[in-house]
Amino acid sequence: MANEHLIDDCIFCKIIRGEIPSHKIAETDKAYSFLDINPISEGHALVIPKYHGEFFHQVPDDYLADILPLARKVALAIGLDEGQYNLLQNNGPMAHQVVPHVHFHIIPKPNKEEGLIVGWPMKEANQDNLKQLLGKIKEKL
Ligand code: 5GP
Ligand code: ZN
Repeated sequence: MANEHLIDDCIFCKIIRGEIPSHKIAETDKAYSFLDINPISEGHALVIPKYHGEFFHQVPDDYLADILPLARKVALAIGLDEGQYNLLQNNGPMAHQVVPHVHFHIIPKPNKEEGLIVGWPMKEANQDNLKQLLGKIKEKL
């Protein structure tokens, strides 16, 4: 994989390069999807371009073109064809962007028993639970 569009000092560039571990769901030549480490609901996943850009509009078309098909594939594997979810992308700190590498969140909505998500109730996920969940998602890819 060509790394010329990644930078050294970025957590998501490091994840793409494999320098920081992640629960990878799937990838293409130009996009990468993995489980969020602080999920706000079970199955919360991220899809990122293999191109370092802070803002959506800075990412070239060929990288953006890989993102939504991969997001759909991941959403289906998470089982969201039977559920409700947000596909969310934030730009800049005032728009709640914390990691300055473009990313799309796939956020499953809880079922009626669990109720609505209010705010951004992130929790540190248990690594074993994430691993187990990843196995289930990958079986459905
Ligand atoms: P933002 O607020 O920038 O839109 O969201 C950044 C997301 O990245 C957050 O949901 C956060 O939990 C996630 N995140 C930050 N660092 C890491 C990491 O090292 N690994 C993973 N898997 N997710 C991360
Ligand atoms: Zn980056």
